[in-house]
Amino acid sequence: MPQDYRVLLYYQYVPIENGDQFAKEHLAACKEIGITGRILVADEGINGTVCGTFDQTEAYMTMMHEDARFKTMIFKIDLADHNSFKKMHVRYKRELVNLSLEDDINPLEITGAYLNPKEFREAILDDNTVVIDARNDYEYDLGHFRGAVRPDIRNFRDLPQWIRDHKEEFLEKRVVTYCTGGIRCEKFSGWLVREGFKDVGQLHGGIATYGKDPEVRGDLWDGQMYVFDNRIAVPINQVETVVVGKDWFDGTPCERYINCGNPECNRQILASEENEAKYLGGCEHDCRVHPRNRYVISHNLTQEDVLTRLAAINEVVTQ
Ligand SMILES: [Zn+2]
Repeated sequence: MPQDYRVLLYYQYVPIENGDQFAKEHLAACKEIGITGRILVADEGINGTVCGTFDQTEAYMTMMHEDARFKTMIFKIDLADHNSFKKMHVRYKRELVNLSLEDDINPLEITGAYLNPKEFREAILDDNTVVIDARNDYEYDLGHFRGAVRPDIRNFRDLPQWIRDHKEEFLEKRVVTYCTGGIRCEKFSGWLVREGFKDVGQLHGGIATYGKDPEVRGDLWDGQMYVFDNRIAVPINQVETVVVGKDWFDGTPCERYINCGNPECNRQILASEENEAKYLGGCEHDCRVHPRNRYVISHNLTQEDVLTRLAAINEVVTQ
């Protein structure tokens, strides 16, 4: 299939004045170019994933590099078969990433040491280094660096508390962190430094950069990388392929993501098509029988169908 599209992933921590106004103008400029995607603008910087043709993405990068604030911005470029987004969104928020800190971290003032892919690979292999995944549990479960610590969190803002609860395990060791594109680690590693961790490093440019590095070629990455666009999962390791994702329902190897059918739950789980059907797209019983279960609605299942499938997995509806 021809890879006619390119996806750009980028961020820059840099003060942006009148971010609200900037966001509006930026949206208009993006629409003019014709790209799609999601961009976040905050007082502390910009973070985006955009998709377009070669010419469109080229035009966008040129426009950004002409702005003094973004002239050194690094774009990570992926090829894609399809347009990865339906629309163009530019939103203004107070912060780029939310760690829910009373006293927020400015990565321009405090952050962990930047490690290039080669240095990061050496850190993974070093027994005295702890590698912490700074992403959410569902991202880790699709793929992660071999042996990395998996914080048990569904939201980035819960990470500081999780670290505090497990502090004794890491405090005397060298700690290195990684995330998708590097933006979360800029703040998180800075927070680790402020918390008293002595030797803190971060994978510069994130997993996305590591996977493209001609020397390390994604080595020691198992599974796929979760991404926040229509592609959902992208390969990283060019040296070997290891599947680590496990089906939510039966634990068999799986890399297919679904959202729980219960719109109030929406939990992201890995599930085969067969198990999605068998379990009515719901992560647990209450989600399966939820009156607005999207799986049931979109598949036009009757009440009888639902009861039959529930009976097959030994579940009954209690009134
Ligand atoms: Zn659920």
